[in-house]
Amino acid sequence: MKALAKLKAEPGIWMTDAPIPEIGHNDVLIKIHRTAICGTDMHIYQWDEWSQKTVPVPMVTGHEYAGEVVAIGQEVSGYQIGDRVSGEGHVTCGHCRNCRAGRTHLCRNSVGVGVNRPGAFAEYMTLPAFNLFKLPDEIPFELAAIFDPFGNAVHTALSFDVVGEDVLITGAGPIGIMAAAVVRHIGARHVVITDVNDYRLALAEKMGATRTVNVSREHLQDVMADLNMSEGFDVVLEMSGVPSAVSEMLDVINHGGKIAMLGIPPEEMAIDWTKVIFKGLTIKGIYGREMFETWYKMASLIQSGLDLNPIITHRFKIDDFEQGFEVMGSGQSGKVILDWT
Ligand code: NAD
Ligand code: ZN
Repeated sequence: MKALAKLKAEPGIWMTDAPIPEIGHNDVLIKIHRTAICGTDMHIYQWDEWSQKTVPVPMVTGHEYAGEVVAIGQEVSGYQIGDRVSGEGHVTCGHCRNCRAGRTHLCRNSVGVGVNRPGAFAEYMTLPAFNLFKLPDEIPFELAAIFDPFGNAVHTALSFDVVGEDVLITGAGPIGIMAAAVVRHIGARHVVITDVNDYRLALAEKMGATRTVNVSREHLQDVMADLNMSEGFDVVLEMSGVPSAVSEMLDVINHGGKIAMLGIPPEEMAIDWTKVIFKGLTIKGIYGREMFETWYKMASLIQSGLDLNPIITHRFKIDDFEQGFEVMGSGQSGKVILDWT
């Protein structure tokens, strides 16, 4: 089968011929229809420090996907050949305390599809049946292929009550933009989103942000004055991983505010803890998606009218994957879809 793999410990990704993987008793074999390129795939492509420490070579990468079940392990029940699926990219251990308590998203031994085990940039992939999410008929493969990052957005956006609240989202990457769409859809009042990239801010505005702020030109304090927000934001979703965005956010959040942190800072990051203390803030770290509550919420949000389509800005046939990686790396895109059919 065709597979896109990290074959060498240097920048790049290569199309290769790999054997169709064999399934274990508890696995299914998925024929991949669509995949999407994640920021993580870009890090692995560029072969940054994190990738060098984390990803064994050779490795088939990719973890944003949707496809159909074409083979089923003998212990698997509840699925049929032909089922349309996406699936959770964190494969959990099942025996740690959190797994046994049903809090599998907090598994301390989770293994990443396309990072630590063969991924979805291939014509076929195996996955434990536990990880599958069966797709409602009305959700097309290309939308389901971005359920992994959409799930990051939904998990973060639903971490605190945002109904009627003023929400700040720092970072209008694909995940920040989808989070803006979600909080707007479920009834936030002001949805202010920051970035330094005008292309992405324009996309955020199209998808539900009520105010976009290019922090290289505008100050958040001025925007708040414009919006008559005298006290500050009630909820902040940190989706940039950029230290200056984090310190600014601590200035503009109201007392008693809630912060959900998704963005991953490149290195250890200092903040002014006195603001956390004297403002009585609550900070929650977010990793991945809740299994599988976030997945049900994603499907239901789309079924209740949330339009995610604008976030998909580019589509390529798999043989043109280099173009896909190029666009994704340019910053002038939302999600980029690769078609394996
Ligand atoms: P992304 O890199 O596309 O988005 C980050 C955005 O932040 C970019 O658009 C960038 O221009 C913007 N930015 C740069 N400087 C800024 C500033 N000063 N203020 C505001 N924004 C600024 O990434 P993404 O795929 O949308 O993911 C968002 C973040 O979440 C990344 O840090 C990613 O590593 C992280 N992430 C975390 C998890 C998790 O499970 N915790 C999962 C996926 C991604
Ligand atoms: Zn576990």
